Amino acid sequence: MIAHPGSEVRVLIRSRPTANFAQELIEYLPDGQTVSVHQRKDSRKGVVNNQLSSWSFRLDGVLHDVSQEEVYGRVGRGVVLGALEGYNGTVMCFGQTGAGKTYTMTGATENYKQRGIIPRALQEVFHEVEQRSDHAFSVHLSFLEIYNETLVDLLASVRGCPGVGPGGMAVVEEAGGGVSVRGLSLHPVHSEEAALNLLFEGEMNRIIGAHALNKNSSRSHCILTVHIESRSRTLSDAKYVTSKLNLVDLAGSERLGKTGSEGQVLKEAMYINKSLSFLEQAILALADRRRDHVPFRQTKLTHALKDSLGGNCNTVLVANIYGEASQIEETLSTLRFASRMKCVQMDPVVNEHTDPVLQVRKLEKEIQLLKQELSIHNTLANRMGMSYDTLSETQVAEIQSQVRRYLEGSLDEINDQFMLLVLSSVWHMCCVLNRQQEQKVKAQLCQNYTLVEKAQSTAGSTAAKVSLCLMLGPVAIKMVLLQTS
Ligand code: ADP
Ligand code: MG
Repeated sequence: MIAHPGSEVRVLIRSRPTANFAQELIEYLPDGQTVSVHQRKDSRKGVVNNQLSSWSFRLDGVLHDVSQEEVYGRVGRGVVLGALEGYNGTVMCFGQTGAGKTYTMTGATENYKQRGIIPRALQEVFHEVEQRSDHAFSVHLSFLEIYNETLVDLLASVRGCPGVGPGGMAVVEEAGGGVSVRGLSLHPVHSEEAALNLLFEGEMNRIIGAHALNKNSSRSHCILTVHIESRSRTLSDAKYVTSKLNLVDLAGSERLGKTGSEGQVLKEAMYINKSLSFLEQAILALADRRRDHVPFRQTKLTHALKDSLGGNCNTVLVANIYGEASQIEETLSTLRFASRMKCVQMDPVVNEHTDPVLQVRKLEKEIQLLKQELSIHNTLANRMGMSYDTLSETQVAEIQSQVRRYLEGSLDEINDQFMLLVLSSVWHMCCVLNRQQEQKVKAQLCQNYTLVEKAQSTAGSTAAKVSLCLMLGPVAIKMVLLQTS
């Protein structure tokens, strides 16, 4: 269920069950993917107009009258399993207040069957961790609320929590393009039960905060993140994978009527409108492949979600809508947002890292082996009268002069000492270059050297040396010149 590179964000519609479903206005087509909306011209504007306008939205699925279990299976499972493999994943609910976002993400806490995507995802994570005994997993949770552009750590009350540092909380960019929230507490969890306890604690803090600060919880964004790290138990590999699974319950998307809102409500509406319209802008920019700048940093929400919207992430959006005729305008605007989101492309890749400590250990082992190999080579080289030592300045000058004179034709006799210097210099360069080349040139040298010995016994020393120089010429002479230039 991992999205293929270049595929689009998956978008599903979920409608809240109602006895007054506006069949004449909302039509789910038999393909299970298309929603048509027929809207009468706005009668509130005093114009009597029975003309219908129709819109059609083709998405990835319609969740109408379906159980929480089926919603998890179609929305959450693939993303969760991807996260265990090292792919970042995001499940996000969008829609107007009361349309069922929290019901979809968290569910009815008092009813086990009606639990939502988050508790089911946590259950699946720990079930898989138990099954995959060939890997060691470490799981941490964080729970962030964004209210009126303020970041709130919903797990700050947990015992042993370090508390926010002097700089306060802030979204910060990480090397590699990711983001994290400085000052947000990360809690290690070893079981489903411990994870659920943290979820409930966070939910409770959200509610308490809402009462204490007289804020409306449906007007804040909430991001529960499961941070997963997995290492192979069987391979003593320095490589390991990490992922972030973001479970996002966005604030209600309805545009509050500008008149009539004042004080706290007006302030909330302004912040919500700002963050959601910047979210739409970011999504429009992401969907447009020609744009290379995406305005993530405009609000806390888009900045915090920078690495969770498409890109290197498996993203699924649930657009929650009402089925009633009275909400048709908001439904239409939710569906428009959903279809824009559908144009965002994803290129999920596994987040693979190298453990520096294990890598050093591995390299130390490799150096040890190379040293052993080198000592064997040294013995062989000594036997051939060669040395790995770098050439002295006088030797280099002598080689340069001999090579020049030889190439100019003023020297036709090359002495043995020079030959050995050329050989040892080539040998040395091979050691400096990578091992593959060393093996290759060394084999050639050994072969040629025997040829020279044979040639010496038959055709006399000058011919032999010249033939050696010709055979080695392009490599040896060039290397000597390279080294001395
Ligand atoms: P939101 O978070 O979008 O503001 P909620 O999830 O709080 O909305 O839903 C509002 C009410 O509707 C809650 O009482 C919730 O239990 C109920 N509800 C929403 N969706 C469903 C559904 N699919 N099935 C049953 N009840 C639902
Ligand atoms: Mg809600």
